[in-house]
Amino acid sequence: MTSQEIRELCARPGKSTNNGSRGRLSRADRAKVLRKTGCTCHVCGEHLRQKWQADHVVPHKLGGAAALDNYLPICRECNSLRWFHSPEVIRLIMRLGIYAKLEIRNKTQLGEHLLPLLLKRLETKDRRRTSRQAAANRQLPPTSGGER
Ligand SMILES: [Zn+2]
Repeated sequence: MTSQEIRELCARPGKSTNNGSRGRLSRADRAKVLRKTGCTCHVCGEHLRQKWQADHVVPHKLGGAAALDNYLPICRECNSLRWFHSPEVIRLIMRLGIYAKLEIRNKTQLGEHLLPLLLKRLETKDRRRTSRQAAANRQLPPTSGGER
C-alpha cells in the first residue's frame, strides 16, 4: 500500500449510494439477528443485553440491503465507531489502532503523544453526549408521577 492510497482511504467518504429505506425489523426478526452471534456484538464480541443495534454488514450508505441476511448484532459503541466505512478503511483503522496500542504500550514518543490525544477526544465525546442527553431530556414531556 502506498502513502497516496492511505491518504485516499483517509479522505472524506463519498456520498451515499443508497437512498432506499434503512429498514425496520420486527421483534421476531431482531431475535433472529441476535441469535446469529449467540447474543454477542459481531465486532468486539461483548455479550449484548438490552441496548444493541442491528448492523448492516454491507453498510446501508454503501448500498447494503435492508434484509435479514445483511444484519448482525452490534453494540452501540462499535456501531458508532464502524460508521459506514468500507472494508479497506475498517482494516486500515484496525491496523492503525494496533500500531497505536503498541506505541502506547512501549511508551514511545509517539505513544506519549497519542495517549493524551485519545483522552482528550474521549472527554470531548463524553461532553457532547452529555450535552445531547440534557437537550433531549429538556424536550421530554413532563412525567405524570411527581407533579400535581
Ligand atoms: Zn461491540
